[in-house]
Amino acid sequence: MHADPLTALRREADELDATDPLAPMRELFVPAGKGENAVRAYLDGNSLGRPLKATAERLADLIAHDWGTRLIRSWDERWMEMPLRLGDRLGRVCLGAGAGQTVIADSTTVLLYKLLRAAVAGAPARRTEIVIDSENFPTDRYIAAGIADETGCTLRWITPDPAKGVELAEVEAVLSERTAVVVLSHVAYKSAWLADLPAITRAVHDAGAVVLWDLCHSAGAVRVDLDEHEVDLAVGCTYKYLNAGPGAPAFGYVATRHQDHLTQPIRGWMGHADPFVMGPGFEPSPGMRRFISGTPPILAMVGIEDTVALIEQVGLDQVQAKGELLTAATIRWVDWLLRPLGATVVSPRDPSRRGHHVTIAHPRARELSARLWEREVIPDFREPDGIRLGLSPLSTSFGEVAEALAVMADLMAT
Ligand SMILES: *Cc1c(COP(=O)(O)O)cnc(C)c1O
Repeated sequence: MHADPLTALRREADELDATDPLAPMRELFVPAGKGENAVRAYLDGNSLGRPLKATAERLADLIAHDWGTRLIRSWDERWMEMPLRLGDRLGRVCLGAGAGQTVIADSTTVLLYKLLRAAVAGAPARRTEIVIDSENFPTDRYIAAGIADETGCTLRWITPDPAKGVELAEVEAVLSERTAVVVLSHVAYKSAWLADLPAITRAVHDAGAVVLWDLCHSAGAVRVDLDEHEVDLAVGCTYKYLNAGPGAPAFGYVATRHQDHLTQPIRGWMGHADPFVMGPGFEPSPGMRRFISGTPPILAMVGIEDTVALIEQVGLDQVQAKGELLTAATIRWVDWLLRPLGATVVSPRDPSRRGHHVTIAHPRARELSARLWEREVIPDFREPDGIRLGLSPLSTSFGEVAEALAVMADLMAT
């Protein structure tokens, strides 16, 4: 170890920033405060991504032009197509999804309900089990439990190692001729465990069931080739790595082969084959439009376009590569600087099994997190003893991580 770990760490961070091809992207974001009150390190871009300056302009423009001047004509001119047009672009750039399979709508919670409920309804009568894991995000577990209550299905629980996540063998062990749907997160929200999506998807198909992947912590950060791996269904957030803003709607993916035989439960007029006929009965639109329920939240979805355009410009591979470097450096530095002070890395050490955050455990995590926020260092606290460091490749610098760890070391030492 170097005589002065902090100096060595800062020097290494400077070198990494100097050779980082994505470093200039940071200038594209709205500055997080000025001078004394500026945020020193924002490590929560996986809960709420920072806004791009372009989004502020796009919103102002939408209000002045599309809404303010074109008024209701904008529905015909642009807005009706927006959930599908934007979905296609997001699908192509971030999800490996061909056109006509991705829609922007609702929140992740609601869209998860709609797609999971549709999948359960579409399963053969003898398939009555929903497979889910105990480490999945609360909303996923609650929605699945609600659907089980509503339909009489049974939940089949996987209980993975909390420091890791769901393994292929654990999925295989619960699959049977009773399995209807398997619902899992691609990147675990606590540990950052990256599930083996291709192998698990194959195993689910071999058992005759369908899989619904939650991509909240993958979209815009980690490569997900939905078409290539023949994923059935997926949902995810746009306000995390996609920086679309608080309450920005979710995206949903339904493989073309499933679209015509799945009907989602919230059958609103906007999912009708011809909404303006306003006929007596519901007739689902062909294709992805049937998964829309009501009026699309246009204002809330405009922010999606800017980060997707940026990722298209720099390439998702480059984004993923920086995320791998950021997480690797963070783990190395935590071992070096914070392990002697009682912190341990609980995220996977194997880079091929890890998303873009690093969770560390410390007995005083709750108190430390509160004091870090006061000092303009912003990670996320996760019960019971986790500090989650979200590393957003387009907006996080290595220097920022070094700065955060220096403040954490200072707090942990006192
Ligand atoms: C953030 C997150 C959600 C959030 O759902 P909302 O409906 O947007 O609140 C759902 N699932 C996972 C895995 C998440 O990480």
